[in-house]
Amino acid sequence: MDVVTIGESMVVFTPTSDGFMRNASQFTKKIGGAESNVAVGLARLGHKAGWISKLGDDEFGKAILGFLKSENIDVSNVSIDEEAPTGIYFKEPRRQNHMRVYYYRKGSAASKLTPFDLNQEYIASAKYLHITGITPALSESCKETIFEAIKLAKRHGRTVVFDPNLRLKLWDEATARATLLEIASEADIVLPGIAEGEFLFGERDPEKLGQLFLNHGASLVVMKNGAEGAFYFTEKESALIPGFPVKHVVDPVGAGDGFAAGFLSGLLDGLEVGKAVERANAVGALVTMVTGDVDGLPERDELEQLLSKNEEDVV
Ligand code: ATP
Repeated sequence: MDVVTIGESMVVFTPTSDGFMRNASQFTKKIGGAESNVAVGLARLGHKAGWISKLGDDEFGKAILGFLKSENIDVSNVSIDEEAPTGIYFKEPRRQNHMRVYYYRKGSAASKLTPFDLNQEYIASAKYLHITGITPALSESCKETIFEAIKLAKRHGRTVVFDPNLRLKLWDEATARATLLEIASEADIVLPGIAEGEFLFGERDPEKLGQLFLNHGASLVVMKNGAEGAFYFTEKESALIPGFPVKHVVDPVGAGDGFAAGFLSGLLDGLEVGKAVERANAVGALVTMVTGDVDGLPERDELEQLLSKNEEDVV
């Protein structure tokens, strides 16, 4: 296994008509979840990714499992909760680049994850453990699960990669800040956005933020900055790797997950950090060009095509 990740995936409904969702009569149905998005991104690029989670014993649980299997994700460590349902959520587009989100995930099957659901050998079998700041926000037992997974990964010398993915709809600011900082201090690689860095450290300057994350415990920080691309920081060096220009951004949601997949893919292929960030930028850019969190995630040939193109060719 190359990467193992842990989190909740849900069925996402979006009205096909504009206006308030209360008046909508038709919806599209997709699968969403930051961690499984990363797994899909990795698998499409030919890596072996596993997803640890819980699903309800219901139609939506079957939909998610079927989808992830079709994307070649290892789901051997996904269990079915007989009592709790699979979470769902709705996305209501209000105006360009503004989406209202309504969660129906409280008490969901994934929120029932506990440290007993973790298989030490499974975590040890992967080179990277990928975690996000969403899972610890789901419940107390999910928070314990994340800290236990980190402990197991470190015990076996595995690299822990952490994307803060701040979701203030799920928890209060003080708890979120304290927990995310604690996880950041345990992680080897941290992938924050600048706004997340500001939330955690009260600082907006990328250089200073990079240093703050390094001082806090990470050995590599890659800081996303939308269309501009991303910065990376290690004790020895730092650089800004410019993004790929996208003429028409259709849906920016999911770019961060694509970025994480592209970055890990680069590291797995033995690229140096700057080149891995370039690959991450390319995957992030491709995700923004279509609707849906995973629909734009490229296969290898598409990615190579973009990486070998001139800026002017990108649309
Ligand atoms: P998400 O909305 O998925 O949580 P995020 O806030 O974590 O995303 P962003 O900085 O929005 O992260 O995007 C991640 C990466 O995707 C960027 O660093 C960049 O490489 C790429 N990207 C995002 N938006 C654009 C854009 N408009 N044009 C080109 N590349 C983009």
